[in-house]
Amino acid sequence: MKTRIRQQLSTPGETLRDKQLHPLRLSLRLAAGLLAVLGFTCAESSSARAADPRPTIRVRATNYTEATAATVSKAEREAGRLLGEAGLNVVWIDCPVGQSAAVASDPCQQPLEPTDIVLRVLPDRARNGVQDSAFGIAVLPVLASVYYEHAVSLARNDGAEFETPIILGFVMAHEIGHLMLGSNSHSDTGIMQGQWERKQVRQIMKGDLHFTAQQSKLIRAEGQTRMSLEATQLRTPSSVG
Ligand SMILES: [Zn+2]
Repeated sequence: MKTRIRQQLSTPGETLRDKQLHPLRLSLRLAAGLLAVLGFTCAESSSARAADPRPTIRVRATNYTEATAATVSKAEREAGRLLGEAGLNVVWIDCPVGQSAAVASDPCQQPLEPTDIVLRVLPDRARNGVQDSAFGIAVLPVLASVYYEHAVSLARNDGAEFETPIILGFVMAHEIGHLMLGSNSHSDTGIMQGQWERKQVRQIMKGDLHFTAQQSKLIRAEGQTRMSLEATQLRTPSSVG
């Protein structure tokens, strides 16, 4: 599977799909940057991202299951939309299973930075002791795992298997939510409820399950903290003599 990068901005309707890092596109960006420096761009088109106060995280996603690429992609879009609602931009990097031949520029093989999160879509056989009722698991601060078959069975119990990618996306957002909110971050309402049954699936399908205002605030703050950490690391020499 080829590495695929997709940027998801947090304002609905601004989603950029299947954004490939391509030399031509990079040089176009460079040209756009030069135009901005020279003052030839109109105010509206000059980099909205530069003025974007919302933090951005990168999620390296790997699918270890029989879920199709389309299912995972739709789930990622849904998770990105939910995190976007909370004020967090997400860049999705789809990584293949296993290490391919080392390519220095491959984002899947770069050292993890503070704004990087690793997301695994796992089959049930990889539970390794995690209870069957768990739809996912998060290991702070960087690793989120979601169980594909659990999303399938929630959708089946609701009598609608086509709901699987949506439910999987909500599970992704929940587990990434744990990474951003810290331990003990379950709540009685919203997407961070600890147990999902038919009622929660109904809320998902009606669009009634979200991060709370307080959780959204904490997610944005954690995103900012991670970005600051990364900026500090970039300024600090990686080794001293
Ligand atoms: Zn949870």
